[in-house]
Amino acid sequence: MIIILRPHAAPKQEQSLCEYIESCGLKAVSVPGDGRSVLCVVGDASALAADYIRSLDFVESVKAVTAPYRLAGRLSHPDDSVISVGSVSIGGGGFAVIAGPCSVESREQVCGIASAVKASGATLLRGGAFKPRTSPYDFQGLRSDGIPLLLEAKRLTGLPVVSEILDMSQLPLFEDIDVIQVGARNMQNTELLKALSRCGKPILLKRGWSNTVDELLTSAEYLMSGGNADVILCERGIRTFETATRNTLDLSAVPVIKERSHLPVIVDPSHATGKSAYVEPMALAAPAAGADGVMIEVHNDPAHARCDGPQALTPQRFDALCKKLFAVRKAVMSCEN
Ligand code: PEP
Ligand code: MN
Repeated sequence: MIIILRPHAAPKQEQSLCEYIESCGLKAVSVPGDGRSVLCVVGDASALAADYIRSLDFVESVKAVTAPYRLAGRLSHPDDSVISVGSVSIGGGGFAVIAGPCSVESREQVCGIASAVKASGATLLRGGAFKPRTSPYDFQGLRSDGIPLLLEAKRLTGLPVVSEILDMSQLPLFEDIDVIQVGARNMQNTELLKALSRCGKPILLKRGWSNTVDELLTSAEYLMSGGNADVILCERGIRTFETATRNTLDLSAVPVIKERSHLPVIVDPSHATGKSAYVEPMALAAPAAGADGVMIEVHNDPAHARCDGPQALTPQRFDALCKKLFAVRKAVMSCEN
């Protein structure tokens, strides 16, 4: 249930309504809006007397929410959310370029790539220390040894860093990581999502390759209903009958998510296509589709990368891509304004 208060509603009245909601065993989350507050009820709203709430003079309207996501949905939060990561803002007008290697392999590798992508215009650095590989015989990442190397690249370049967590036992290692990534394989790991809802850090939540947009938003709801409003969504391709690409980039998910949710959306053309030749065209399509950023894998020596080499761009190709990407973004923005 979403309760929209009138602009003159006093804080005391809002407080008393929240207390009533809580006395029924539910949680009320207040979302400040355009001159008025919106209360979002978390839990089974059938326990509430909707007519009583409607009759209160400081309540403008009461809406039943059938979608299983209330906090992630646009209804509770009509304006786009902006997530702050250090001095970088994601969503609400900016365009994030997250770039870096699939996996952290060495100090030289991650620091070299970080300096190069920063010079090309990247705003965040990515790098996996814990790698969720399909085969147990493949490189599993440098694991705890990889995090300090990523943090060294952060200190060197000043870029905030994004890295994937696989299990809550790893959280203490992520203290200085700016954005925690939940990968496609863990999108519906509800215990992980519940635990991360209390971690106090922005989460980059990737769509599972066989999950619908509504399931992605419902996973975001796990993070948000537990208290973490800083959720960034990522479309990274879904499984279809097509085998020419590693996955099929569902670019239409971007406007669908934008319609249903206020959360920022990033497009990952690297995992979506799996082939470096296709990364640039699909990255260029992202700003035109309305995405808030892209995530691109970059490697100094793709042929010898320990993970996802075929989809990695060299720093030179990434630089050429950035020039086009910023031009497309500028063209799209100039037509909108
Ligand atoms: C990654 O970003 O390195 C990754 C493993 O992505 P995904 O979870 O989308 O497969
Ligand atoms: Mn990868």
